[in-house]
Amino acid sequence: MKTSIVKVTAFAVGGCMLLGMMACAREKAAKADNQPQATSVTYLPTSLDQQPLPADAGPLPSIDANRTMQYVKEVVAFGPRPIGSANHKKLEDYIYAHLKGDQVEDDSFTADTPEGKFPVRNIIAKFPGTREGVVVIAGHYDTNYPLRNTAYVGANDGGSSTAILLELANHLRGKKREGYSVWLVWTDGEEAVKSWTASDSLYGTKHLAEKWEKDGTIKNIKAFLLADMIGDADLNIDRDTNSTTWLASVVYQAATRLGYQSHFFARTTAIEDDHLPFVQRGVPCLDIIDLDYGYGNVFHHTPQDTIDKLSTKSLQIVGDVILESVQMLDKMK
Ligand SMILES: [Zn+2]
Repeated sequence: MKTSIVKVTAFAVGGCMLLGMMACAREKAAKADNQPQATSVTYLPTSLDQQPLPADAGPLPSIDANRTMQYVKEVVAFGPRPIGSANHKKLEDYIYAHLKGDQVEDDSFTADTPEGKFPVRNIIAKFPGTREGVVVIAGHYDTNYPLRNTAYVGANDGGSSTAILLELANHLRGKKREGYSVWLVWTDGEEAVKSWTASDSLYGTKHLAEKWEKDGTIKNIKAFLLADMIGDADLNIDRDTNSTTWLASVVYQAATRLGYQSHFFARTTAIEDDHLPFVQRGVPCLDIIDLDYGYGNVFHHTPQDTIDKLSTKSLQIVGDVILESVQMLDKMK
């Protein structure tokens, strides 16, 4: 993925709806003391008017973060996993092996790239629900192509997203969902093969979004949550301005319920990632991404993107927040 603009912004607190009583009390106290008006370092999504949030989405979820980290380690052990490589094929088989018995489809095609033609395969696992409509949770499993002949293993960029989806599948299978159907999508060909442009990037999701537009599926997607680079031990999920505001509000509220809100939305960026082909087709999307990986993002797309930079806690936070967000979406009008 890529940031087109990066800006660090402090947002004025716009209301109390999401903050709860404590935060409101603090805001009022600051005013009473004639302190400088609190421009919060925590981004607070506004525009909640489009969708009222449910008061209670039920018991808080908890993924098995140790198992998720084990998945990351196993994925990383394959080595670099760029499109067209033998390691990539091994990873495809690994993902399929974890989805035995699930309803799995693929969207495979040949991508025409500046480095030639490559097979690309999006892998889709469908978990049916009782409610009409689909929540898609996506993340890419390919790794950086230009670094394919280095020690690059993409523990965070590629590894963490692959693993979190495998763990979410463990929580979704074996029971009929009381809510929307959830489709997990391991996207492929996210990375550029030469350098990032609109045409050299997002090969898998561009294809999938077009396919789902043609067959009418896209109208049924209520939300598209993307997880990318979510394992950083120093977890700071960016507020992506290309994403949908009300969906950011839902995720922020979910994070707040779990006590994880300090890891969300302190920094605002415009991020180009696998959600864009769906954003462009009017699907509500949120990119859950920490694009500050190491000080000044120094580990991103370098051989330093290794397992020791990640933490089980970060995987826990993101996995739980995604599941809680889906529970909230299930109950929304
Ligand atoms: Zn990348």
